[in-house]
Amino acid sequence: MHDTLPLLTKTPFPAIRRTRLDTLQVNLGYKCNQSCVHCHVNASPNRTEMMDPDTLALIPRVLAARGLGTLDLTGGAPELHPGFRDLVRAARAQGVRVIDRCNLSILFEPGQEGLAEFLAGQRVEIVAASGSAQLTPARSGRSRRHPRQPASAAWSPDPDGESGG
Ligand code: SF4
Repeated sequence: MHDTLPLLTKTPFPAIRRTRLDTLQVNLGYKCNQSCVHCHVNASPNRTEMMDPDTLALIPRVLAARGLGTLDLTGGAPELHPGFRDLVRAARAQGVRVIDRCNLSILFEPGQEGLAEFLAGQRVEIVAASGSAQLTPARSGRSRRHPRQPASAAWSPDPDGESGG
């Protein structure tokens, strides 16, 4: 993981003003099928921190109580949380727009069969910018394309991209 604070302190940051709350962004856990060197939460397959079921169950209630229009799911790879699909179903049943910050390679992971169809069926919006996954091992050293990910897959060459994290 890169030390990013020295880079940020050199940058003038604009003033921030709070407006009406519309989006609830939730980090479901630090587990990820990748371990990108740029990941700002240091997610990896070895991380075990995941949102507990009681907290997860609060999410639809918070969406309803606050009248929020968007649920933005991130991680890690949020799809690896065992409650991911039920949460998506619950939010969509409430008419909430759901964003999945997806690293795309998760679609090829064992155990994630049917994920693409599920996301499409629920009309989930995908935000995908897999910053390191498009690099060959020779360039990245630490991140790699999934063995079953087609070499021709259209990975965005976004060096700052973060999908789940
Ligand atoms: S895919 Fe995203 S969450 Fe996973 S390690 Fe890479 S940057 Fe972090």
